Amino acid sequence: MNEFELIRQLCANLPVNDSVVIGAGDDCAALDLGLSDTLLLLKTDAVVEGIHYHSDADPARIGRKAINRCLSDIAAMGGVPTAAVITLGLPAKFEFPYVQALYAGLNQAAQDAGVAIVGGETTTNPDRVLISVALIGTLPKTVAAKRTGAQPGDAIFVTGELGGSQAGKHLDFIPRLTEGRWLVQNFDIHAMKDLSDGLAGDLPRLLERTGAGAELLAHAIPISRAARLRAATGSPQPAAANGPTHPPTRPQATRVPGGALGAALADGEDFELLIVLPAKQAVPLLDAWKKEFPALPLTCIGKVRPEPGVTLRDKEGARPLPAHGYVHFE
Ligand SMILES: [Mg+2]
Repeated sequence: MNEFELIRQLCANLPVNDSVVIGAGDDCAALDLGLSDTLLLLKTDAVVEGIHYHSDADPARIGRKAINRCLSDIAAMGGVPTAAVITLGLPAKFEFPYVQALYAGLNQAAQDAGVAIVGGETTTNPDRVLISVALIGTLPKTVAAKRTGAQPGDAIFVTGELGGSQAGKHLDFIPRLTEGRWLVQNFDIHAMKDLSDGLAGDLPRLLERTGAGAELLAHAIPISRAARLRAATGSPQPAAANGPTHPPTRPQATRVPGGALGAALADGEDFELLIVLPAKQAVPLLDAWKKEFPALPLTCIGKVRPEPGVTLRDKEGARPLPAHGYVHFE
């Protein structure tokens, strides 16, 4: 059983109550606690030594990543983060300066986002460090109401550039909080997700709710410099430097040398925003975005289609894009 099958099985029997507006399966849960116009967002996420970062990585960057992963999910809802609690699992022989550095990163990233850290838990964890962050935020009810799921004909956009995050971005990414909030305030965002498992894996999950499919345009996918560089030099993924070693349940992308596009589609941990909105808002969005965020690319990469499944169109035609990262490209 892989990670995604496990989650699907577990989600089938979860209890709910009247507070649940958005339950398991989205980037955050959204709860109605009786406030007149605001929902509470709730999120938890963990990073584990040897899985999400290499043991040699700088502890301050690890701490920052631990909280920024949660903030990226709040960004994907268009929400505002409020406060976090931290659970820290440490091997019995931990070194205090290491934990201090880790917390310095956590504290700085939280402060940058206006987030309070209001408690937590420490425990012993054999062999490796584990940091789990639980975070709350807020979301206007009007924004949640527009989140209808991807509709046929909608345009699909992505922020930034994709692929090659193992070269360093996976530790140093900036959660797109300002951008996410601006998007939901100014446009009818039907669906949005942060890219954590790669476009080829995350897009099908974004489409799941309405059963729609999508066509991506190969030439439009924004490929990062790191992904191009790695493809050009044919160098292996620099996992030994600071990169994540992926969990065994998440298959690595298989691609031939020169596969920068494959990397952009299948590499994980881009933490960019994947955005779905009505096609008639595509041009107004691009115009407004250039004025608001001139330093960050925003690219239309395809459209939502009524038929399920994701296809990739290039000059040779359209072909199915396998989910979860198995991609072969010449
Ligand atoms: Mg997410």
